[in-house]
Amino acid sequence: MTLDLFQRLSYKLARTSFVVVVVLGVLVASLQVYLDFRTQYREILNNVEEISRVSRNSAQRAVFLLDENLAEQVVQGLAEYRFLSQIAIFDDQNHLMAQHHQAIQPSQSLWLTRLLVGGKESFEYPLIAEDGMVMGTLKLELNKDRALNPFYHRAWRVLLTGSVRNFGIALVLVMVYHFLLTRPLVTLATRFAALDHARVPVSNIPHLRKHEHDELGYIVNSANRLLDNFNEKHAELKQQQQQLSLILDASPNQVFAVDLEGTLLFYNQAFKRYFGADQASNYFDLITECGIEESEQIRALLQRVGRKQAPVFNRQQHFSGLHNESHIMQMSLVPFVSEHITRVIVVLNNITELVEAEERVEYLAYCDTLTGLANRNKILEQLQEDIHRCKASNRYGALVLIDLNEFKRINDTMGHSLGDELLLHLSERMAKKVREPETLARLGGDEFILSMPEVGTTQEEARSRAEQVAERFLQTINEPVTLANQDFAVQATVGIALYPLGDVTVETLLSQADTALNEAKRRASGAVQVFEPQMAAEVNRLLQLESDIRLSYQEHHFSFYLQPLIDLHARSLVGGEALIRWFHPMRGVVSPGEFIGFLENSEMINLVGMQLLDDVCQFIRRHKEQGRFPPDMRIAVNISERQLYDADFVGKCISVLRKYKLPGSCLEFEITEGAALHNLDEVVDKMRKLQNEGITFALDDFGTGYSSLSYLKRLPVNKVKIDKSFIDDITIDPQDAAMVASIIAIARNMNLLIVAEGVETDAQAQWLAQYDEILIQGYLFDKPLPPEVFSQNYLPKPPSY
Ligand code: C2E
Ligand code: CA
Ligand code: CA
Repeated sequence: MTLDLFQRLSYKLARTSFVVVVVLGVLVASLQVYLDFRTQYREILNNVEEISRVSRNSAQRAVFLLDENLAEQVVQGLAEYRFLSQIAIFDDQNHLMAQHHQAIQPSQSLWLTRLLVGGKESFEYPLIAEDGMVMGTLKLELNKDRALNPFYHRAWRVLLTGSVRNFGIALVLVMVYHFLLTRPLVTLATRFAALDHARVPVSNIPHLRKHEHDELGYIVNSANRLLDNFNEKHAELKQQQQQLSLILDASPNQVFAVDLEGTLLFYNQAFKRYFGADQASNYFDLITECGIEESEQIRALLQRVGRKQAPVFNRQQHFSGLHNESHIMQMSLVPFVSEHITRVIVVLNNITELVEAEERVEYLAYCDTLTGLANRNKILEQLQEDIHRCKASNRYGALVLIDLNEFKRINDTMGHSLGDELLLHLSERMAKKVREPETLARLGGDEFILSMPEVGTTQEEARSRAEQVAERFLQTINEPVTLANQDFAVQATVGIALYPLGDVTVETLLSQADTALNEAKRRASGAVQVFEPQMAAEVNRLLQLESDIRLSYQEHHFSFYLQPLIDLHARSLVGGEALIRWFHPMRGVVSPGEFIGFLENSEMINLVGMQLLDDVCQFIRRHKEQGRFPPDMRIAVNISERQLYDADFVGKCISVLRKYKLPGSCLEFEITEGAALHNLDEVVDKMRKLQNEGITFALDDFGTGYSSLSYLKRLPVNKVKIDKSFIDDITIDPQDAAMVASIIAIARNMNLLIVAEGVETDAQAQWLAQYDEILIQGYLFDKPLPPEVFSQNYLPKPPSY
């Protein structure tokens, strides 16, 4: 460490001391000289007085004697005093008797003398005789400069030695200051300066030799105490910092701080790992290098937070492109100012999985997992929204309910995974037809729903638009699908409900569409049906019907009629078919045409069917007991598909037989072609079990289905009943006649008994008579009859007692 000389404390001290010494020296010397001068001057004047007094006697004598030689001697004698510049003796007549003149030599001190006391001074002494008479005058002129000359010499010496002494003192002081103060101070300062703050703990400052106990020692001690304190605090701080960074590093969140230029102040391990940064210094550069597409946005956000000093918490930000991945980060940004620099602490929380999980949850809550379409929940919400939307815009929307026909059959026969595949396939096709702002959803099973908000300004417009769209969907669905090397042609039915008509709720709207759909299915002509208010009445009717049926079942209002089955050639009774009748308390006897379709589609068929079987068996039992039931006679009972699928159907039938102690050989079950379509194996298994009990099976309505022969061959039936629709026109329509002929041929080929149903005319009977062993059933012989009438007319009379 070098200090400018003039800046050095020793110099300043020396300079001050020097000035003080010099000024004081000069003042003291001046005073001394002045006092000396006063004394000297008085002495000179005294000297002049004394000299004049000593030489006055001789001068008086010379004047008295007018002795010029003597006067001359006196003058010469006085001339020895060189400070007298003029000496003259005058007689009483003022004649000059003798004189001495010495010109005043100009000297260096003359100006000073003149300044102090004037250049010269004259003295006149009267020369007085003994009698007191003035006899002459002695005149002296004092050359003051000359007189003061010795004094000047002395004074000069005094001043000179004083100055030398003062200078010496000053010099000594400088040395003293230098060695005692400045040098140790500089050494100390150098040691202070040499402290390495970067290398903590900072080592103590060594004491200056021989200064251990003085002020410098005190300074060193204080400084060392300060350093100890500093080291201690530094260690504490370092420990805290380590703990803090441990905490920060333990966090899975990326934590870092940057200034507004992106310079990183610190960052944790998670940050390092995430950004793959090892020597990162600028965050903005880093995210750009990492290929994060939103880097500009992030920079802007950071800078805005810093500038406005307004923290931002939990903002979601996409980070796409980092390591070719995309993440969702929850960002918290807290601005702070340190060392006049605005900085921002950023905490990134990777919530990608969370968001994905949320999305997944939402997806699961709102999406159909099989097809990816909206699910029931979603469409219900969407419909609510769409209804509001239409109400607000005063426009009409349509809800289109699509139901795949026969899907259940395909699903059951082909297996569920293929069924799922088919659904997926069809839903993908349908999804392609959906236009904004329509929503397509799968309600479950094979039901789809399309909400079409704001499709028309009038009801008519909305209706025709919805119908068009529905047709488009049907066409798409109808296109053949090939799955597992098999072609499927799926048909669908559509019910449409328009909204908003009045204060309609989503539930009513759905049930309206459902009603329209059922209507479309019922009518079977044209697969699209728009809901009409009168259909609601139909729905109500069906609801009423359901509760009626339930009640009627409980009150046993269902029973049967019997229609005889005749051997055409023998014209004799071979059996009878039990046909259900509803003995309605208000409506009288109701034929199955009005309710059987509904009943077969409801669970009630199982209960009602069993009740009916019970009644039939009871009838047989009674007649058997009366000996009126021929042993080879069977009563045919219609069994619907749903009954066959009842897991305990076989058990229930057997227990009825047991109940009435009847063999199965008094019964025949009529099933339709479709009855076993959905699960052939299961149905065949049940049939076999029942056959083991003696029950036979007849295939009802033969010819109306579209079953293949190979399928029919697998059904263990021993009778077919040719449907009435073929019999109707056998005598007039050659095609029908040919059809019946081939049915008979097939049945014969399969060793089956043949029944012709609905034979009403003799012509029909005659036509049929060309074949052997034909059984007929129809109005030609009899209508279905109340059981008592049947037994009265056809069964043997009870033996008379
Ligand atoms: P189905 O099994 O084909 O029964 C024959 C139907 O044709 C009966 O109508 C019968 O009255 C009617 N019929 C018989 N001969 C003639 C005729 O010469 N001309 C005309 N026009 N009709 C004739 P019904 O009793 O109204 O039964 C209708 C259908 O209801 C039955 O057709 C059957 O499928 C179903 N059904 C009847 N009873 C039951 C039952 O107990 N259980 C189940 N599951 N279905 C039943
Ligand atoms: Ca039948
Ligand atoms: Ca039939």
